Amino acid sequence: MKTEPASILKDTFGYNSFRPLQQEVINNVLARRDTLAVLPTGGGKSLCYQIPALIQTGLTVVVSPLIALMKDQVEQLRAAGVPAVVLNSTLSAEAYAANMEYVRRGQVKLLFVAPETLLTPRLFSLLDSVQVDLITIDEAHCISEWGHDFRPEYRQLVDVRRRYPKAVCLALTATATPRVRQDIKSSLGFAGSNEFVASFNRPNLYIEVAPREDALKQTETFLRRFKDQSGIIYCFSRRQVDDLAAYLTQKGYSARPYHAGLNDDERRRNQEAFIRDDVLIMVATIAFGMGINKPNVRFVLHYDLPKSIEGYYQEIGRAGRDGLPAHCLLLYHYSDAAKLRYFVDQKEGRERQVAMQHLEDILRYAEDTANCRRKPLLTYFGESYREDKCKNCDNCVATPPMLVNITIPAQKFMSCVKRTDERFGATYVIDVLRGSKAEKIINNGHDRVSTYGIGADMSKKQWMFLARQLARMGFLKQEDEFHTLSLTDKAMTALRQRSTIMGQMLSPLEETTAESRGEKYREPLYNHALFAILRQKRKSLADEAGLPPYVIFSDKTLVEMATYYPQSPQSLLNISGVGQVKARQYGEVFLEIIVSFCRKHDLEENKRREEEPVKIQSEPERPATRKGKGGSNRFVLVGQAYNAGDSLETLMQRYDVTLNTILDHLTRYVLNGNVLRQGKDLNLLTAVAPAERAEVFKVFEREGCSYLKPVFDALHGRVDYEDLKVLRLLYLVSTVQKS
Ligand code: ADP
Ligand code: ZN
Repeated sequence: MKTEPASILKDTFGYNSFRPLQQEVINNVLARRDTLAVLPTGGGKSLCYQIPALIQTGLTVVVSPLIALMKDQVEQLRAAGVPAVVLNSTLSAEAYAANMEYVRRGQVKLLFVAPETLLTPRLFSLLDSVQVDLITIDEAHCISEWGHDFRPEYRQLVDVRRRYPKAVCLALTATATPRVRQDIKSSLGFAGSNEFVASFNRPNLYIEVAPREDALKQTETFLRRFKDQSGIIYCFSRRQVDDLAAYLTQKGYSARPYHAGLNDDERRRNQEAFIRDDVLIMVATIAFGMGINKPNVRFVLHYDLPKSIEGYYQEIGRAGRDGLPAHCLLLYHYSDAAKLRYFVDQKEGRERQVAMQHLEDILRYAEDTANCRRKPLLTYFGESYREDKCKNCDNCVATPPMLVNITIPAQKFMSCVKRTDERFGATYVIDVLRGSKAEKIINNGHDRVSTYGIGADMSKKQWMFLARQLARMGFLKQEDEFHTLSLTDKAMTALRQRSTIMGQMLSPLEETTAESRGEKYREPLYNHALFAILRQKRKSLADEAGLPPYVIFSDKTLVEMATYYPQSPQSLLNISGVGQVKARQYGEVFLEIIVSFCRKHDLEENKRREEEPVKIQSEPERPATRKGKGGSNRFVLVGQAYNAGDSLETLMQRYDVTLNTILDHLTRYVLNGNVLRQGKDLNLLTAVAPAERAEVFKVFEREGCSYLKPVFDALHGRVDYEDLKVLRLLYLVSTVQKS
């Protein structure tokens, strides 16, 4: 057996490279030096003792205060083929005795114990009979009165150290303040300064703060991006938790409440359901999250302002432990401050002072719309963040809104809505404003209204940007499936009083609309249809085995499978998270799914370059390619997802692009010889009547499909470009595909 840390990392755990400081910590432990390692949540603390445990000959004891987590750790280790057991008060007498026996016979490499269990004579006599090589103290901040979770039993752990002087000691924590660090080292009797403190930056978390307007609506809009994915919503009060959980459930979301007011049993059941992916959304007070290790939490939504930066960072830290992108959104309203101040005022003396300081800090953070969000967060934890922009927070990706006077164009637009009797969508209104000669407009007599042609100075894009803005500002209402626009009372008043309207103006050169802050969160590119099938398989295997799904494979592993399409046992082993044992146990089942999916969709394996460390921090470097047609082909993914049943809207949200872009992708998909299953939503995109469609199709036949301009001209501008784009796709689907 190979005993190099790097080979164990690969063979047993299936990972290709170490996370920051893991290797240093492991080497230090193997050199038998006491070590304190401070790594953020998700930083990979477990491997720091698991790998030495597999290299050393004796036993590794892991002390942890979180009983639920111990079980989880043992399950994950066993799934990777590592013999581990737990000893704590939840075990039956038989199970306890059996586990003791395994340890005595030297059949396990790792023993997880609660501190109070470790400090019993029974355990001491067991450990006296074996060779203890490594004592790991997990959640080591519990030893310090300065930590947020002091546990008196932890103080006695120094006795354990004295009893087994040959064992090296590794203390692990995610709490970094210097005071706590010092306390840990002195309480455990560490000599020297073998201390490793990793950066607390979590680059995969997209951090956003948005003004809370209509919280329920904002929540639903947000959740729509995370179909079938897990997340946590934190609320201020228990009642809010109950109400929101009930609301979401009634709306068809998979959500459960979690707070200290529920009885133990219900809390445990809800948490378990979340861990097992039976429930996707946990609506919770801050009481939730401490003892959970779920790596695939894709979002954390704060419905209210948290009480402190420390708490906030801990809460958002529960997202994205697997290293895949995750979205953290905080909804903030200035009234939150008053509410929290009220609670702070109930406190007294020093406690009040501290709470007030915390509140001021988080308020300053939430109200900052200019500076990178990571900077104040990391500074708070004593780390200096050198980058000017992190590129993964709302303030870094948003172009700062420059407010200008938009009264005139706003009046033009709103009047035109009125003049056309509030019966049309934005595209039509814009066409009238720009003086289009489209047949529809002439037939309706809208070339004779006073607003006809008064907006030729602005591009369609600029008008569309303005229209959306007016809708957001509450001047326009959009109704029914035809997106008919009408004016609100606010608009009527503004028109009557000629009020000044300030807003953003899209410059004519701007290609993309940076209208909404925080729309830059992107999912990694992978085949969503295949991912869904793999995920389902994982769930049924997990249920059969009574395990949480992530114990079998993490989301990251499935994402890689749906990116690289491994088709042989050897390539499967190149996927992050697939070690020897898991490959043997589950490899065949997953390979079978991938192979048959690829056969059906004519896809081939994407070879990952050798020696290339796996990085799916944001997007995999090499997205799926279609046979024989190389390049970075998002259109293939879009086409496949559409065929698998994803709606146009879903695709727009997933890739954060306009409908036009999706249509371009689909068109390219068809032009590349793929079959597009024609969804009915395509037909709904254009109002061009059947007779006219036939005529347009004829022009396509004559002029070809590569360029729209000749077609537009041949039709004398009767059909606008937006309609032509849709019709071209329909034409391609109906004719080219048949041949
Ligand atoms: P922590 O205890 O520090 O919060 P964990 O040890 O639970 O973090 O690790 C978080 C996740 O990251 C786990 O799913 C783990 O398997 C994974 N992980 C740890 N180290 C690596 C690595 N080097 N490469 C890839 N994934 C890793
Ligand atoms: Zn930033």
